[in-house]
Amino acid sequence: MMLLPRVAIIGNGQLGRMLKQAGAPMGLEVIPCDPSLDEPVALNPDDVVTVEQELWPDTPRSRQLTAHPGFLNARATQVIRDRLSEKSLLDHLKIGTAPWCNITADHTTEHLALVGEKLVIKRRQGGYDGRGQWRWKQGEPALDEWLGECIAEKMIPFEEEVSLIGARGHDGKCVFYPLTLNLHQQGILHASVAGLPRLEPLQATAEEWLTRIMVELDYVGVMAMECFVVDGTLLVNELAPRVHNSGHWTQAGANPSQFGLHLRAVADLPLHTPQIHGISVMWNLLGRDWSTDWLAVPGCDVHWYDKEIRPGRKVGHVNLNLPNHALLQDSLNQLADLLPEDDRSPLLWALREIQADSPA
Ligand code: ATP
Ligand code: MG
Repeated sequence: MMLLPRVAIIGNGQLGRMLKQAGAPMGLEVIPCDPSLDEPVALNPDDVVTVEQELWPDTPRSRQLTAHPGFLNARATQVIRDRLSEKSLLDHLKIGTAPWCNITADHTTEHLALVGEKLVIKRRQGGYDGRGQWRWKQGEPALDEWLGECIAEKMIPFEEEVSLIGARGHDGKCVFYPLTLNLHQQGILHASVAGLPRLEPLQATAEEWLTRIMVELDYVGVMAMECFVVDGTLLVNELAPRVHNSGHWTQAGANPSQFGLHLRAVADLPLHTPQIHGISVMWNLLGRDWSTDWLAVPGCDVHWYDKEIRPGRKVGHVNLNLPNHALLQDSLNQLADLLPEDDRSPLLWALREIQADSPA
């Protein structure tokens, strides 16, 4: 029997679960590990250790996992988990990003105003889904509690948000998916559309930037790069050294998916540019249940994370993949008709984007 390394994951949320699902067809064993527990995990010397989150508590188990010889990307994870070192890396690599500053004792309200009239104050570590962020306007006080804890970033009046998911292998080979268009509201991803020809002109720059980042960090595995589009050009918002919510559409619209691609990269299996089928939409299930009626919609798949439903919590996602724009529009309309009116807006957003992109 083929001998594959086992892949331990620091984290046992939905990303670890979907990595495990992606390993199953190859018989590749994936072991999601809750890093908050103390008990050690039974690991073999040739296992590989990778992450589904950037930050974890310091426990005997997390120390065991990060001390394992197969733990990948220690430096990348350390740089990206802190917005101060992450933004400094982008500046060092001359990659466009929102103007920003570290908040130090010198950064009075006048200093902050030099970055921009309107700012987003972001916690350096541990923020996600828009948590740990505050809006600031010129004239407002700079709060003492931001000192050493936060960076300040200029508020960018972007046209839209896109992300690039790519992977780098142990041999340095880099491969990418097409850019994904993302709808964020209140800092949380609601929906993505992938396979829009109109984003193609941005693809080469995005790939060149993410390659530069992965090479600099000597990174192995899938990495996500979230960007703003401003005046038709890219600015990098943030990086994720792992599989990413904006790549969930690849489960339906690409082969391999981002989960399969990450496993191939970390397990040192062959990497090639993923094959893309048709056009895809991903809709996040935020604090809501799903209905089996949705499965009657052509091209519709439901991924449920087996989590307790709480307001706003990511508990699953729906992927829609169809061969062309017209068929995807039909399916989006059918799915929207099955939802209460208040829940339809992410699907209607995707529908508008697809209509606007449709070949004449
Ligand atoms: P994630 O869950 O992706 O890790 P996060 O909470 O870490 O998100 P960001 O990605 O930095 O935080 O911000 C979340 C969203 O807030 C962005 O996708 C964007 O919509 C908005 N946002 C963040 N920074 C800015 C900015 N400088 N200007 C305008 N909007 C911004
Ligand atoms: Mg983000």
